[in-house]
Amino acid sequence: MIRHSHAGTDSSPADDSPLVEVRDVWKTYHVGEVDVPAVRGVSLTIPAGQFLAIMGPSGSGKSTFMHLLGCLDRCDSGEYRLSGTLVSRLSKRELASLRNRRLGFVFQSFNLLSRTTVLDNVALPLTYQSVSRRERRKLAAEMLDRVGLADRAMHHSNQLSGGQQQRVAIARALITRPILLLADEPTGNLDSRTGIEIMALLQQLNKESGLTIALVTHEPDIARFTQRCVTFRDGRVASDIVNHAVEDASAAAAAAHAEAELSAAV
Ligand code: ADP
Repeated sequence: MIRHSHAGTDSSPADDSPLVEVRDVWKTYHVGEVDVPAVRGVSLTIPAGQFLAIMGPSGSGKSTFMHLLGCLDRCDSGEYRLSGTLVSRLSKRELASLRNRRLGFVFQSFNLLSRTTVLDNVALPLTYQSVSRRERRKLAAEMLDRVGLADRAMHHSNQLSGGQQQRVAIARALITRPILLLADEPTGNLDSRTGIEIMALLQQLNKESGLTIALVTHEPDIARFTQRCVTFRDGRVASDIVNHAVEDASAAAAAAHAEAELSAAV
């Protein structure tokens, strides 16, 4: 059974339509004379509050699909609805506005401003909205607290570990209160233990506030912490599997920590 209701979200009738509705979407790149079909007739719905993984070999169309979901690009044909809005019909300007206000992005390489404080990195997306400096900093401090980095607010981001930098990037992605978080290999630059800690944070955000998360990963070891795994092959959805036994990443992180302590003591 696919579980379509989620903790933290209101279950009023208006919430019954999926947050993401993609129907028969196609995208082909044109390189000189050559057509490169990247996404070939993908249909997918994502209910609000779901945490799903997108997997598949390199070149299978995952990034192209994430770009479409993230309103960074438009499909050639097909339909994409985000929270009821027909995204596939929007102009470039409307897409940018939707992207800035409703979507959050996290990347493998964190993409923080290295000589800027952690607090200002997190507050940055709000500078494009009419929020006062004081309010921006207050919200950024609250967000840093949520990701467990309140005590690092005045550090520069290049003074932090990889795991801490990714937490800052997550806080920055969430400060505009997006309805969908898109994470492109967020654990790809981290050691496995730190990667599990990041998954614990994402699981916590998903559970506590019903945040919908789509995460691209190559690692089955990371996908086991998500509720559903969609695998791409040759631009199509090859499989779409509900995870009936989602593992608890914070318990896995604690176990990995204990194991590391034990081997250090031996
Ligand atoms: P994945 O993220 O699974 O590695 P991509 O979406 O990046 O897959 O790529 C799907 C296909 O589209 C591949 O054949 C790739 O070479 C091609 N492709 C991706 N981006 C571009 C681009 N900007 N221009 C031309 N071809 C591209």
